[in-house]
Amino acid sequence: MSHPFSVDLAIDGHIHTRLCRHAEGAMEDYVKAALDAGLRKIIFLEHLEVDIHSRRQSWLDPDDFAEYFRQGRRLQKKYRGRLKIGIGVEAGYNPQAIEDLQHTLARYPWDTIGLSYHFYPMAGMHYTMVGRNREHISALQARGLDRVAEDYFRGLIQALDHITCDKICHLDAVMRHVPAFQLNGHHLDLIDTLLERMRTKGVALEVNTAGFAIRGQPHPCSQITKRAIQLAIPLVVGSDAHHPAQVGRFFERLPHWFQSMFSRS
Ligand SMILES: [Zn+2]
Ligand SMILES: [Zn+2]
Repeated sequence: MSHPFSVDLAIDGHIHTRLCRHAEGAMEDYVKAALDAGLRKIIFLEHLEVDIHSRRQSWLDPDDFAEYFRQGRRLQKKYRGRLKIGIGVEAGYNPQAIEDLQHTLARYPWDTIGLSYHFYPMAGMHYTMVGRNREHISALQARGLDRVAEDYFRGLIQALDHITCDKICHLDAVMRHVPAFQLNGHHLDLIDTLLERMRTKGVALEVNTAGFAIRGQPHPCSQITKRAIQLAIPLVVGSDAHHPAQVGRFFERLPHWFQSMFSRS
């Protein structure tokens, strides 16, 4: 049985800028790239993290967000009629700073809130679960990747109870830079619970095309995306661009990817 669903490939809903300190290019560079790519709309989704202790900052400060909104508003006016521009946030969950995150989110008029879970707490420090930093990966391997992934999915389920959001970003990106790591049955059960909560709350699932560069298919994988479609969870697409050339990356592969998801079974 096929499941009807729609996904708008003319919107890139996940764009970073140099304001987050690990992406290249000013906001306007991404706008120009989106016009070149023939997109109708982009949503900037810059990194917000609260109370994360890491040697390197990879998110925006309050002052950065002020500049982010100033620039965003200016570009919305300048490109009106040519490109719709949303000013959103990729909110990093921190189970130890829930209220702080809620308050920070409430301070700004976001067009879209994407929920992610990036950092794992251990012994007073935080380690990225989605990055390629070898030191962080080793520390998480010492903890046990199955357990880290379990905590990651449990964290996202818990986050949905506390953080109002529009979508879950790169849902299965946990330990994505450890090719040997695979989700087990317990993880898949937790993902089912997570998807059920998303459906109840009307939270969309992001199909994050950065995954094509890492492992040949988006985040989440076809198995999880198919399950979401069966649950009638809305899908939105995002490139997770950290360079203007990455705006709308791999979107052209998606129609075939969606098709094969249903023809295989
Ligand atoms: Zn980033
Ligand atoms: Zn992210």
